Amino acid sequence: MINYDQFFVNAVDKVKEEGRYRQFTDLARQAGAFPAAVNHSDQAQKEVVIWCSNDYLGMGQHEDVIAAARTAMQTMGMGAGGTRNIAGNNHAVVELERELASLHGKEKALAFVCGYVANEATLSTLSLIIPDCVVFSDQLNHASMIQGIRAGKAERYIFKHNNVEHLESLLKSVDIDRPKMIAFESVYSMDGDIAPIKEICDLADKYNAITYIDEVHAVGMYGPHGAGICEQQGLMDRVTIIQGTLAKAYGGMGGYIAANAQLIDAIRSYAPGFIFTTALPPSVAAGALASVQHLRASDVERKGQQERVSRLKSMLRQCQIPFLDNNTHIVPVMVRDPNLCRQASEILMEEFNIFVQHINFPTVPKGTERLRITPTPLHTDEMMEKLVDALIEVFDRLQINKQSLQSSESA
Ligand SMILES: *Cc1c(COP(=O)(O)O)cnc(C)c1O
Repeated sequence: MINYDQFFVNAVDKVKEEGRYRQFTDLARQAGAFPAAVNHSDQAQKEVVIWCSNDYLGMGQHEDVIAAARTAMQTMGMGAGGTRNIAGNNHAVVELERELASLHGKEKALAFVCGYVANEATLSTLSLIIPDCVVFSDQLNHASMIQGIRAGKAERYIFKHNNVEHLESLLKSVDIDRPKMIAFESVYSMDGDIAPIKEICDLADKYNAITYIDEVHAVGMYGPHGAGICEQQGLMDRVTIIQGTLAKAYGGMGGYIAANAQLIDAIRSYAPGFIFTTALPPSVAAGALASVQHLRASDVERKGQQERVSRLKSMLRQCQIPFLDNNTHIVPVMVRDPNLCRQASEILMEEFNIFVQHINFPTVPKGTERLRITPTPLHTDEMMEKLVDALIEVFDRLQINKQSLQSSESA
């Protein structure tokens, strides 16, 4: 007899030993009361305030978004009815892709079931169909990009995070006539730092490379129309492929790429992660479209978020709660110990009805454990004061080191 269950238990034990076993909180978010949720993990089902959501602007509950999704559901039903090869395009997805292409100033866009699949499918397929391609990948790229690059089996080099000198030295080492692709992100999700996009594009021009940028943590939030950091910095036409998600600031589900027509046609024709999976449901595509359109026209949410973020940062500074300072909406409060970080998160939830997930290894390097806080335009002054008071109490009680961060640590 083979005891299969023992394999599973052993595997999980290993995770537990490494201190990275995860317990998920059972939450019901409350549309109309964002950022509140009911905590079903707790018998008492208490109402909690969420401070770590990637629904960065609260668009998941925006009335135009819900209305568009509801109408599509009522008129077209729930599912897409199949893969696009089998069932054709559902009209909602066609409209969504048209909008996304125009948002990013590209000829075409292609929607995927999620951002993860968009990265995995596109990067692996590009590596396979560009003959003799060499891939240059930022050290801190998201797991979905790494998976895609690995699956593509092209020769690859990892460059030091945001380090253009290192990238250039690697580019230089490869024959100028070989096809090359540089893959990186605009906003990195854990430190909230921003890539030197212009410098990377300059290197791409110099060394005959194409560029692939993941703008997942920027779309909806940066640039006059919410197209991301490339739009904000006037660089949309310099980047070959822009990838984004509809699941974070747009508040829904789905991922996409935007690029020129030939490239999109090739991915559409070759990428298994596009071909062999059922298309986005019409309701999800229609809701996402409404969200993208809303944030193209309105900057009330963006402005509101920026104001809340800078206010929270100044409150934290005042009471000397250490956080990584950056130019984005991500506020990493540094605890720098895995157990204290987990305990901090537990106390915040149990005693203060505040939900901030602790972020430990392997999501971040050991010794940089943190509470990743993401203020939204819908967090009130009162919520902010409660959060900061709770953090002061927790830092005191757990005797977390409040020593200000060395610049090397925040680099
Ligand atoms: C969340 C995330 C993704 C995946 O997007 P989903 O739509 O959630 O699948 C891709 N890249 C980065 C950097 C992310 O943080």
